[in-house]
Amino acid sequence: MRSAPHLHPRESADPGLAAVASLPGVGPALEATLARLGILRIQDLWFHLPLRYEDRTRITAIRDLRAADSVQVEGTVEAVEQGFRFRPQLRVVITDDARSMLTLRFFSFRRTQVQQLAPGTRLRCYGQVRYGAHGFEMVHPQYQRVLADGSGVDECLTPVYPTTEGLGQKRLAVLIAKALLQLPPAAQLEQIPAPLLEPLRLQSLRDALLQVHRPAADADVAALLQGIHPSQRRLAFEELLAHHLGMKRLRARIRSHRAPGLAGTGEAQRDLLAALPFKLTGAQQRVAREIARDMSRSEPMLRLVHGDVGSGKTVVAALAALVAIESGFQVALMAPTELLAEQHLRNFRDWFAPLGIEPVWLAGKVQGKARQAAMTALQGPAQLVIGTHALMQDAVAFRKLGLVIIDEQHRFGVHQRLALRDKGADAELVPHQLVLTATPIPRTLAMTAYADLDVSRIDELPPGRSPVTTVAISTARRAEVVDRIRAACGEGRQAYWVCTLIEDSEQLEAQAAETTHAELERTLQGISIGLIHGRMKPAEKQKVMQQFQSGAISVLVATTVIEVGVDVPNASLMIMENAERLGLAQLHQLRGRVGRGSLASSCVLLYQPPLSAMARERLNALRETNDGFEIAEKDLKLRGPGELLGTRQTGRLEFRIANLTRDAAMLAEVQDVAGTMLRKHAGACDRLIARWVGNSARFADA
Ligand code: ADP
Ligand code: MG
Repeated sequence: MRSAPHLHPRESADPGLAAVASLPGVGPALEATLARLGILRIQDLWFHLPLRYEDRTRITAIRDLRAADSVQVEGTVEAVEQGFRFRPQLRVVITDDARSMLTLRFFSFRRTQVQQLAPGTRLRCYGQVRYGAHGFEMVHPQYQRVLADGSGVDECLTPVYPTTEGLGQKRLAVLIAKALLQLPPAAQLEQIPAPLLEPLRLQSLRDALLQVHRPAADADVAALLQGIHPSQRRLAFEELLAHHLGMKRLRARIRSHRAPGLAGTGEAQRDLLAALPFKLTGAQQRVAREIARDMSRSEPMLRLVHGDVGSGKTVVAALAALVAIESGFQVALMAPTELLAEQHLRNFRDWFAPLGIEPVWLAGKVQGKARQAAMTALQGPAQLVIGTHALMQDAVAFRKLGLVIIDEQHRFGVHQRLALRDKGADAELVPHQLVLTATPIPRTLAMTAYADLDVSRIDELPPGRSPVTTVAISTARRAEVVDRIRAACGEGRQAYWVCTLIEDSEQLEAQAAETTHAELERTLQGISIGLIHGRMKPAEKQKVMQQFQSGAISVLVATTVIEVGVDVPNASLMIMENAERLGLAQLHQLRGRVGRGSLASSCVLLYQPPLSAMARERLNALRETNDGFEIAEKDLKLRGPGELLGTRQTGRLEFRIANLTRDAAMLAEVQDVAGTMLRKHAGACDRLIARWVGNSARFADA
């Protein structure tokens, strides 16, 4: 967290750095409320940007209303009724010039308000439309009375700001307006050095701020509503720049700590490689060398291994772990789900048992004595611990942690990674960090999202993989698909049947899987059918996975719990239900569960017709290529990076105004400018970071 503002003598000329309490009307209570929004100084108000705008430039005819729209209407009060059904309420009926009716409903109101809303009064109301007992209505709309001469109303885009309890939009807007009066002249406000800024031909920061907070009457409304107005682009550029600088600074700070130089003897690595049934690909060898070079240094490694599903990242991580273990340090491997962590546990047990290394297991469900035993082992002889985010809890302490491996699969955020880093051997030494991710993201985006990490790419799949043939089939032909499974199982092959739902409900998803399981048991008699979903106990899940792995189960009905990392090479057929509802990245991840062995594999995307244009494009993209990076580019275009990076889970890339898809074209320039600024303008970098990301937990305390 940022500390209280302090005024540096040289900076006192900068009005932005003054505390918000210096604004007239800001007392201790309001100051505390503002602090909850991260607003401590005047400049925090300048950069507290609208989330969106309410469009008051247009009036919608009542007959054109649609439920859930937020719109402005104008009409004359016909009737006012104070009632008491369950609780006091005020009902106001207005009609517009076309004589269409709309009900306004208020559940809390003052007597003066009732007087103001007398029949005949002309009102302009803004609010969300819903469908009520008497047709369309608005509950607690904002309203203004239109005076006889048509004046009295604002016709503009009204900014809507992020706010918190106890601070209404109007009050916040007034505060921001007061703060804006203190904006210094344009040249003084700029932090990007002029020689870097000029070639970009952007608007001045001062103009941009004034415009987004108070759009001029003649502003390009459509552009502002879409977020592509030059003022918004100017601010987005600066925000992306500040974010990038922040990540680079974070990296520099971590790198300024010391880490143990880990070399090992190479003996354990040789033994593991000799025991593997395959030879490493060239890409795996190269990445393993890059990691070994990093770990031998006394600066902490910060490396991301980026490789498509099935590219063989796990064994590369195992090689890294052996280097640390041979040097007498402990290794922690963290996975995003219990299922995936368990799979790593099985793999590492098999690989490391001959080397005399026994992994310790620590997940949320490990409780009581087992947990105590695990914790004791971590402070003692344990060489490797595998688990979920339970590893990050404060109580978990290590004897001598030298390497942290995070199988990220786009589920962890930067600050979560930092939490594990803090569990280093002692205050002097921090562990090396290795992040594995299967999210193939386009290069420019990767350079922004992972600006704090060095990137290694495993850009080659193990030999002998046959590409997955993908087809899209309407659910009307479900019976044919079931026949296909019967035939495949007859040949000794195995299949996944994945049930997906759009709602984020484990329970509903589990129900859908149970229904399908029952249906397949009926139609596929004589074939053993298993079921796995997120509501099952870990032990049950593990048992089912083992049965599927050993071939005792032929068809596995699963929810998206199998999305990440699950590896059963003999499974060569996958059916995905409701494929039209999923995003490309997720479909690609799921499909990555097949095509892992030498068998020709196929994937059937079952969809519910009719397909939307967007869904059709997604399914086509998947049919056309197996290349995760191509799919990622496509997904970025179709849906935006939030989905791609899993920011819904991590909140990692939350911007005030920038939008990585919309603003992707700026990223190369952002990286250029950032490079020069870091080398030559350290002070300006600090001020930009403070301005935009100063309050963000992820950049603090590194
Ligand atoms: P991911 O990169 O998706 O995590 P995994 O590490 O799970 O991929 O590897 C996928 C499968 O490929 C595993 O069964 C693994 O043992 C196997 N594998 C890894 N490297 C090779 C290789 N060089 N040759 C053949 N198979 C390999
Ligand atoms: Mg994996």
